[in-house]
Amino acid sequence: MDAARTTGRDEPVGADRACAWCGSGDGRFVSRGFAGATDANDQFFECAACNRTTYEILSRTGREMRLGRYKAGDVYQDRTNRTRYHIGRVLRVGANEFLLYLKPLDSSDQATLARH
Ligand SMILES: [Zn+2]
Repeated sequence: MDAARTTGRDEPVGADRACAWCGSGDGRFVSRGFAGATDANDQFFECAACNRTTYEILSRTGREMRLGRYKAGDVYQDRTNRTRYHIGRVLRVGANEFLLYLKPLDSSDQATLARH
């Protein structure tokens, strides 16, 4: 079922990430675990072309999970970047940590998508 729903944006890109919002591959990919002291446990791609961040994995505490009421199948709104995601999966990884697996959502208010 997953394979049938592949849209072309979903293809695994390995080390070569591209921005989900503008398609540029020019940016910085931060893998979960390498982020260091600052932003800890999220996994994301920072686009140098449009300056937006494409999140792949978000780390949340139990408290944040309760406040945000995140669950698989819902839409996650990133207000900072004005982008939206589909929450594909919520995974508990520790006593007080949850991972949200996100998939970028196109929407009409993200009007800057480059179509080729
Ligand atoms: Zn971009």
